[in-house]
Amino acid sequence: MRLVLLGAPGSGKGTQADLLKAKYNCVHISTGDILRKNLREKTELGLRAEAFMNKGELVPDDLIIDMVGEKLRNDGAAGGFLMDGFPRTVPQAEAFDKILNEMECPLDAVLLIKVDEEIIVRRLTNRRTCRACGKILNLLSAGAGTGKCPACGGEIYQRDDDCEQVIRNRLDVYREQTEPLVAWYESRGLLRVIEALEHYTPEDTFKGAEAALGL
Ligand code: ADP
Ligand code: ZN
Repeated sequence: MRLVLLGAPGSGKGTQADLLKAKYNCVHISTGDILRKNLREKTELGLRAEAFMNKGELVPDDLIIDMVGEKLRNDGAAGGFLMDGFPRTVPQAEAFDKILNEMECPLDAVLLIKVDEEIIVRRLTNRRTCRACGKILNLLSAGAGTGKCPACGGEIYQRDDDCEQVIRNRLDVYREQTEPLVAWYESRGLLRVIEALEHYTPEDTFKGAEAALGL
């Protein structure tokens, strides 16, 4: 399965990627996670990306395209992948197409996760992340108050870009720069849609996603 997960920040792409990965055994590629790792390790890429990320702006296309190209060429794409957080602009989608064509690994589908914006703001202001393994937790859900990651015992922290002002900016950036990809992929016959309603659990959304993808 070669799949792109598309959706606003906080729409649950990472959570759905975890569920898909566990069941269908494919590589999860999160550009946000790769960037945050580079930031922690203070690589040249990390240092160049940091200011953009802290403001909720997009990291420039050429940096991201090189980063993803290298990752795909190293890991191979033939065995399947879940792209989470990429592409985020039309130029990124065009470059991605080119890389996949060269590797003779075209996309199977693009899954759009639709979520109401106010739900997203509520979710992201309550989101916490494990510094060690990247697991995503929510203060509103049970068992989150321990301060330790339930998966690995790592330290739980709040991402710098998960404060309300930066969240609103990330949503504006999504609307302006990423949402055009919905039509772009629709016109290529690749778009599948799951609407994640307010009362949905991650598992409900997952079932809907499987149905939308014909799995
Ligand atoms: P979210 O989906 O919650 O916004 P991510 O972890 O996917 O979070 O991304 C965090 C930040 O990393 C983004 O706000 C942006 O600055 C940067 N980033 C991640 N992926 C890309 C991308 N494909 N293009 C440009 N910037 C990106
Ligand atoms: Zn952890």
